[in-house]
Amino acid sequence: MRKPMIAGNWKLNKTIAEARELSGDLAKCLANFEAVDIVVAPVFTSLAAVQEMIKGTAIKLAGQNCYPEETGAFTGEVSPLMLKDAGCEYVIIGHSERRQLLEESDTFINQKIIKALEAGLKPILCIGETLQERENGDMLDVLANQVKGGLANLSATHMADVVIAYEPVWAIGTGKTASDEQAQEAHSFIRGLLQGMFTKEVAFATRILYGGSVKPSNVDGLMAQDDIDGALVGGASLKAEDFIRLVRFE
Ligand code: 13P
Repeated sequence: MRKPMIAGNWKLNKTIAEARELSGDLAKCLANFEAVDIVVAPVFTSLAAVQEMIKGTAIKLAGQNCYPEETGAFTGEVSPLMLKDAGCEYVIIGHSERRQLLEESDTFINQKIIKALEAGLKPILCIGETLQERENGDMLDVLANQVKGGLANLSATHMADVVIAYEPVWAIGTGKTASDEQAQEAHSFIRGLLQGMFTKEVAFATRILYGGSVKPSNVDGLMAQDDIDGALVGGASLKAEDFIRLVRFE
């Protein structure tokens, strides 16, 4: 069976001192919690401090982005190699905020996925439709393009290290969660796409997280859906008490 994953995307929040405090609180409560893969993604400047706090616990570290080159003249960027060096096991790639604000394309996102895998990092590929795309009836096409584009040129073997996060843009930071049924419908469609692109086994084994206003009051219903294997959490990952409740979903 697929091991559930609850991942906290801290986005552009927390100073080093605040990141140390939050990760310290998580480490105290979740040190030996092995039933779920627990992941935190702080800003780059806090990676080292958070790594120090969670070392030896079940909590894993992720970067929020990477650039698809190992080293070189790429001012302001961070490579998969550097993230690995900082203690990351995962990296979030293709978040909708980057697709929208920085106009990241599926091709660029695909390059990052490939370079992350080459460096031994596990990518969390984010996909999701905007409200307008959903209302125009384009949701399935958008998801299909993002999955096919993001995972182009990957093998079934690569897929063992890939996690997908379905994050409908209209549900991010808005308090409007997709209903359990809406999320399940999208997840089941994504799993079908994986079967078409790879194999039935890959489709069955790949974890698909839901993201978009996940909070203690809705996590249990979402996690009860057949094709929802975890959550990628923004706002509710910034308070230890809330995030711990999400990890302990029922
Ligand atoms: P919120 O949980 O704040 O809606 O953010 C979701 C998200 O974008 C996680 O990557």
